[in-house]
Amino acid sequence: MNNFRADLHCHTLFSDGSDSPRELFAHAKEIGLSGLAITDHDTIHGLVEGMPEAAKLSLPLLSGVEFSSSHREEPVHILAYAFPLNNPEILKFCEMHRKRREERNRKILHNLKSLGIIIEEQALEKSNLPLKGRTIGRPHIALLMIQQGVVGSIKEAFQKYLGEGKVAYDPGESVSVEETIDCIKKGKGFAILAHPHLIHSNKLVKDLLAMPFDGLEGYYANMFKEQEEKWLKIAEEKGWIITGGSDYHGKTKPQNHLGSSWVKEEVFKKLYSHFLSHGSLL
Ligand code: AMP
Ligand code: ZN
Ligand code: FE
Ligand code: FE
Repeated sequence: MNNFRADLHCHTLFSDGSDSPRELFAHAKEIGLSGLAITDHDTIHGLVEGMPEAAKLSLPLLSGVEFSSSHREEPVHILAYAFPLNNPEILKFCEMHRKRREERNRKILHNLKSLGIIIEEQALEKSNLPLKGRTIGRPHIALLMIQQGVVGSIKEAFQKYLGEGKVAYDPGESVSVEETIDCIKKGKGFAILAHPHLIHSNKLVKDLLAMPFDGLEGYYANMFKEQEEKWLKIAEEKGWIITGGSDYHGKTKPQNHLGSSWVKEEVFKKLYSHFLSHGSLL
């Protein structure tokens, strides 16, 4: 029997996960995973830092990133895989997102201030201190709100203040799905629609399925069986790649367990061999 399992959706300290890449790899080894992709939000710095460490452990690490985008003002997450780590298109896009997020975080802090919740920009920047190129987002703002005693949990911060449409929410400048797919393709990666079952608008699903994705995420932590079947069928009909992963965030999202969703060797090999042949920098 082939026990190969690769979790293709993992966050680290370089975005809103709580594990360093090294801790993530140790955890992956411990539970017997055979491959992994780091898919931090809008940054590849965790990958760049983690790649030599993963090689030392003989753990195949695939390049990945989860880009934030939107369509008709609704958020859409897009996973990119197997691009070369030094690809200028991908690096430029990450840098654009860094600036976009800086601006957006400033607006969210401003919204909180007008509600009497004072979080200084410097305090948020400090979350960034030990890590070059870390993506700072709403979960980091939520952690500072917990420290101040404004809320008791990240979940409460999203429910009351930071979630879409809530009082302190700001979507930030929009980046379209089309331009994100275009960047990934120019960047020699595969563009995958992330956790499609979490999209509730039928119109949005219809629009997205008409776009030139290479695949969709058909296996996902805690996804119901009927939903999984529906999305696997859609992907098969379109001839799309089916990826899977746990969306592991460590302590930030304790309900998503590393390795709870994964892909088999065949899928991993397809992506990983593309990555190796296009310049993994190793
Ligand atoms: P941002 O990237 O700044 O838009 O923040 C979005 C991230 O926050 C998501 O990718 C999740 O990891 C996290 N998140 C979103 N909603 C919640 C929630 N209700 N509770 C905890 N974390 C959340
Ligand atoms: Zn996240
Ligand atoms: Fe996501
Ligand atoms: Fe994610």
